[in-house]
Amino acid sequence: MSIPNLPIFLKLQNQPCLVIGGGEIALRKIRTLLKTAAQITLIAPDVVDQIKSLITAGKIHHIASHFTEENFIDCKLVIAATNDRNLNKQISRLANKRNVPVNVVDDPELCSFIMPSVVERFPVQIAISTGGNSPVLARLLRAKLETLIPSSYGRLANLMGQYREKAKLQIPNINQRRNFWESVLQGPVAELLFSGQEKAAQHELENLFDKPDRLLQSRGSVSLIGCGPGDPDLLTFRALRLMQQADVVLYDRLVTPEIVELSRKDAEYMYVGKKRDNHTLPQEDINHLLAKLAKQGKHVVRLKGGDPFIFGRGGEELQTLAEEGISFQVVPGITAAAGCASYAGIPLTHRDYAQSCMFVTGHLKDGTVDLDWDSLAHDNQTIVIYMGLIGLNNICTELIAHGMSPELPIALIQQGTTLDQKVLIGTLQTLPALAEQQTIKPPTLIIIGEVVSLHETLSWFEPQAL
Ligand code: SAH
Repeated sequence: MSIPNLPIFLKLQNQPCLVIGGGEIALRKIRTLLKTAAQITLIAPDVVDQIKSLITAGKIHHIASHFTEENFIDCKLVIAATNDRNLNKQISRLANKRNVPVNVVDDPELCSFIMPSVVERFPVQIAISTGGNSPVLARLLRAKLETLIPSSYGRLANLMGQYREKAKLQIPNINQRRNFWESVLQGPVAELLFSGQEKAAQHELENLFDKPDRLLQSRGSVSLIGCGPGDPDLLTFRALRLMQQADVVLYDRLVTPEIVELSRKDAEYMYVGKKRDNHTLPQEDINHLLAKLAKQGKHVVRLKGGDPFIFGRGGEELQTLAEEGISFQVVPGITAAAGCASYAGIPLTHRDYAQSCMFVTGHLKDGTVDLDWDSLAHDNQTIVIYMGLIGLNNICTELIAHGMSPELPIALIQQGTTLDQKVLIGTLQTLPALAEQQTIKPPTLIIIGEVVSLHETLSWFEPQAL
């Protein structure tokens, strides 16, 4: 069986190309072509404003009339983007007559080439075609690939490019060289680059040339990963990628089972959860465990609820690693305040109600609540309290005593962003009693301020309705 199309990448730098049509579709194609530094001539009596700007900026040449056969002379590529099928047909015919590749937007029959859907990681490009059968399917495939391929793959390709000659000289055997590059692309050099440690990546690569044996030693590392407040869809691409490369996964109670399960199936799983007053593993021990496992050459993934650097003791865990010279990276996550606020329809700031927002913890190491009430009791400010349920009564009383209105709205969000999310709304005066009447399941977050009143109109997430 023959395939209908040959996938190729065409060099268009400084080559004359023709786009016919002056609307939104033409604009999209022009933008794609501009990336290749082609010399674009646009033919259209009328053009949309954004195309006008490109013409004024000298990026494209404009002929404000109808096309003639002469326009096709010497041209390397034609795109027909008019909304008149007869015109498009004529364009296609003229281009074919002169053997110029032609694409008629959304009309595969009239095309001599099709424009693929492209995943860009410059200089890496992945082109997807469904043979003109389903542009939507091509787009869906593209979206899938976008999530799988780290955004810095292009930088990785550039780095490899810089060392290609050196590798040829130093590793003349082609099979050995291929093995070398395969290991480099899947090892610490790539990982350092993906996490934005470019210098370290280059240094590591240089080292490998000097001591290729290092490739065989597996060096451990720790990824401290923020997993967001509960909904697995709120994970970042990087979090998921690292989780799927893990040798060991350490997690605690705040990370939902659905999220933990997204880690590599063959990894070793360790629960190091903490409950209030009932520490499964003291923090000190977790810090040392992370270091010990990394020293055994393992890729250790430490999953954290929300963001690791917001009331997450991420700093403490990293200090031990830094002291021991162990390689680590931190992946930010959506903190409970951001997640719960969005899923409860409570904007944390709003031009009419709050110009600032404070994140505080209501629970001190010794179990008491001791907050700077004077700085909290302000109008036009939202307060988000983590770990505040135990102190709820106290918090409301103190805020009223420090001058806040007893009518100030307050929300208690339980298991925010999960299918068990519940939102309890009251005022400083009424909420403590309301909360006592309910069976509340941790974790819970408290949001205080006028913005809470917006919940009534902006609430959209209703998992209980399912
Ligand atoms: N690092 C985490 C916070 C850890 S402190 C973050 O950035 O979100 C733990 C507290 O976070 C809990 O006591 C609770 O107040 C809050 N929290 C975390 N996840 C939550 C959720 N899904 N719903 C409500 N509160 C949550």
